[in-house]
Order: sequence, then C-alpha cells, then structure tokens
Amino acid sequence: MSATPENWLRPEILALDAYKVADASGLIKLDAMENPYPFPPELRAAWSARLQQVGLNRYPDAGAAHLKTELRSSMNLPPEAALMLGNGSDEILQILMLALAKPGASVLTPEPGFAMFKLISKVAGLNYIGVPLGQNFSLDAQAMLAAIERQQPGLVIIAQPNNPTGNAFDEEALRQIVAAAPGLVVIDEAYYPFADSDCLQWLEEFDNLLVMRTLSKLGLAGLRLGLLAGAERWINALEPLRLPYNINSLTQASAEFALQNYAAFLRQAQDICAERARLAEQLSAIPQLHVYPSQANFLLVRVPADQANALHGGLRAAGILIKNLQGAHPQTADHLRITVGTADENKQLVAALAALLR
Ligand code: PMP
Repeated sequence: MSATPENWLRPEILALDAYKVADASGLIKLDAMENPYPFPPELRAAWSARLQQVGLNRYPDAGAAHLKTELRSSMNLPPEAALMLGNGSDEILQILMLALAKPGASVLTPEPGFAMFKLISKVAGLNYIGVPLGQNFSLDAQAMLAAIERQQPGLVIIAQPNNPTGNAFDEEALRQIVAAAPGLVVIDEAYYPFADSDCLQWLEEFDNLLVMRTLSKLGLAGLRLGLLAGAERWINALEPLRLPYNINSLTQASAEFALQNYAAFLRQAQDICAERARLAEQLSAIPQLHVYPSQANFLLVRVPADQANALHGGLRAAGILIKNLQGAHPQTADHLRITVGTADENKQLVAALAALLR
C-alpha cells in the first residue's frame, strides 16, 4: 500500500474539515467573541515585571498549583471541587471526548451549538447526537430527556449561555437533564462573565456534573487557559490524558497576575454588557432585523431571507468581519452572529449594516 493519507489515516479523519478561522487582517474583528479591550493599561508595567521573573529554562509547574489557587478564590469554586486545566477549553473538550470514546459511546448536545463539540467528538470516534433546540432556541427539555433515555450517552454537553444563539437555557430544564443523564454531564460556561447564571454551585449537588470555563472571553484569549471543575473521581480519572506541561509558564504567570486583578477584567466584562444592550437597541431599530436576547458577548441576528451571505460579504467589503451562520445549521439559516465590540466599532457596524439594508 502506498504512503498516502488516504491509505493510512482513519476514514472519519479524512472526512473532516479543519475548524476555519477567517483572516481578519485590517478588519474590525467582530467574529470570534473576543474582548475588544486591550490588557488594562494601568496593569501593564506590573504584568511585564512579573513575566521577567519567569524561568523559561525550566519546565512549567506541571500541576499549576499557584494558578489553581488563584482560580479557586477568584471564581469562588466549591472547596471540595477538583480542578483540571487545559490549553484553552478546546483542549479540555479533546481530553474529555478521548476519555469517553468507548466503542459505541455517544455524546449528546443541543443544536445549533458550538462547532467544536461535533468536530472533536468525530476525531475521538464518538457517535455525535445533536438534539434540535425548540422555539426561539430554547432548550427542548422533553426532546433532550427522550434522547438521553433512548441513546444512553456517555457525555451530555451543554453550553450555558449557548453559542451561537447567545441565550441562557432554563435552569430547571438543565437540572432535569443532569439528574436524568446516565453518564457525565458537562456544562460549558465559556460566557459566564456576561451571564446571570452560574452552575458552579451545582457541583455540590450532582456527582456526574463537571463545569467548564475559559479565560478567553474575559480578555485573555491569547493565553489559552480553560478549566474543568467537579468531583475528584472524575477529574482524577481524566488527568492521565492531560499532557504534563500543557499550561506554559508564561500563561501560568500571566493568568495568575490577571486573576489577582480579576476586578479589572470583570469591569471590562460589565462594559461589554452595557455595550451589548446599546448595540441590541440600535440593531433592533433597523426594521429588517430581529435581534435575540443575549447573555453572552455577542448577538444573534435574523436577517431577511436569503440575504445573510450578501450582508456578510457587504460588511467585509466595508471592513467589518462578523460570523455568517448561513449553512452552519438549518435553524440558523438567515442568521448572523455579531461579537460586541467597542462603542466605536459597534457604531461603524450599525451604520454599515443599515446602509446595506437601505
Ligand atoms: N465553549 C464555547 C461554547 C465556546 O464558544 C468557545 C469559544 N468559541 C469555547 C468553548 C472554546 O474556548 P477556548 O478554547 O478559547 O477556551
């Protein structure tokens, strides 16, 4: 057999497309749910001084003990919860799914949802089961419970608030799902800085629940730090899959420093929430658009039928990059996802969109 990928790679890997990241050079970047504000200027000198002290000749602290202490206190983790860190929460998803991929095992998640849930489950060899969301992208608790009963998934994963829809799901429905799941449930709180809900305290109640978070949306996407919290027996069982030095020394030092100044980052998140309200109001004033309620740092917008591609392209030509959800999932046909930017960026976006729809 000749040495070609087709002959030697797993067929399900050959069938995959890589996660696409659009080139944003020179564009106003409102496509990836980043925090638009830079590292707080008043903290920069102290942060740089801290980085000077990092011994790059040594391997990082494999257990990231200091960083975990900072995470515990700033996020108010239940004291008995164990913690695993990942190079972004994407890496944690990979660890989880590799661990759960017994022959015939399934992962179940509501759809439309975060694209990486599907991609990583395919890489791991899990059966992927998407359960459609209900009216206005609410969680269809009956459909979820019926699918859980039928499929007996090893993993149920739910983003709260959800990406790409931005809404937070009904907490009672979530609790019913955690209680009914035969295996592990992961609630992905990537957007917790902008949301009213917080499932961390549920860890005291459910021993099949893990809560995942990331520092990415808080203004530290470049650091790549995600965390998974929950019962020690689950975390300990997953630990062998984590590469020992997955959190590099510069990330550990920077994240520790940022968490010691957590309030400054939470203030930025509050500013983003205020901008989100303003942006929602301005977009809602454009009669052709429907703006959905959001508890995240982005807005889901429905546009007139068959115009999503043209509007996305038109905005790009006007120097603004957003996410086109046309083609991503049947329920998001005619929808765009817009990350909340700075006041000035949002103003330019609204003006450009209004001009395209005029
Ligand atoms: N979960 C959800 C729901 C997300 O939207 C994202 C980022 N788009 C992630 C996880 C991954 O975040 P990161 O890898 O940056 O921690």
